[in-house]
Amino acid sequence: MTGPKRFPASLKSATAPQRELLMPQRHLHQATVDAARLARPNGKSAGAGMDSSAVRQRMVGRLRAEGKFDEQVLAAMAAVPRHEFVDSALAAQAYEDTALPIGHGQTISKPSVVAHMLGLLLASAGARQRGSLGRVLEIGTGCGYQAAVIAMLARQLTSIERLQALHDKAKLNLQRVVLPRSPRLIWGDGRIGHSASGPFDSIIAAAGGEDIPQAWTEQLAPGGRLVAPTAARGRGQVLVVLDHVVEGGVSRWVRSEHEAVLFVPLKSGVV
Ligand code: SAH
Repeated sequence: MTGPKRFPASLKSATAPQRELLMPQRHLHQATVDAARLARPNGKSAGAGMDSSAVRQRMVGRLRAEGKFDEQVLAAMAAVPRHEFVDSALAAQAYEDTALPIGHGQTISKPSVVAHMLGLLLASAGARQRGSLGRVLEIGTGCGYQAAVIAMLARQLTSIERLQALHDKAKLNLQRVVLPRSPRLIWGDGRIGHSASGPFDSIIAAAGGEDIPQAWTEQLAPGGRLVAPTAARGRGQVLVVLDHVVEGGVSRWVRSEHEAVLFVPLKSGVV
């Protein structure tokens, strides 16, 4: 039989995830509005057939033009297909410098924020000496995007997520990308760290708490650096950098506060 090719009804009816519209957070709402605007009339995302590598190089080029990001980090970001970590309805936005919903009220971090935080970790004395992030702990695996970028820059990565649904999603996402080494993914409460995999040369949190959990400080190796969004008096949430310095055999932890940021909350327990 000849005639026009028909798509199955399920393809025609694909829409942006409706549940995100119920979220009060403005960036989630805005991302959904943008996704609906960019989605094609037949329901397929405009990103489905794009040359993702060229679009990704342009995103990295825009970040490079800002002149403030580490080249090693930019090279890693140029190699990781961010569109594989978001819903296909949002793929067209995967290479814009924006946070996007990943379900369960959580977001994938903005590329510039990922670049900035990993740059801070690579700028520590220990990382400069090694030329790598060394052994890394990430708290808040989310969709696994940042874990993939870290895996390109680290000797070993352990990443913890408290939401089982996202932990499972990250596992699937990370299986689809080629990485020099597989991250160890843990479903658990990242506030207690993961002493069995530590101590860590680098610790990075993708969710913001009231203060830095003691377990993280304890699991930070001598010469190691931690970067975490944390509440600061009178300033809302800021990026806090903590260095484990050893002098004359004595450890001390040097804390500095950086710019204001807005991360999802660091919560306790697992779901
Ligand atoms: N790096 C992620 C960003 C995810 S958003 C990415 O690239 O997609 C932050 C994540 O931190 C959320 O998935 C949230 O569930 C998780 N989170 C919040 N509190 C946590 C905790 N105590 N332990 C582990 N994960 C936590």
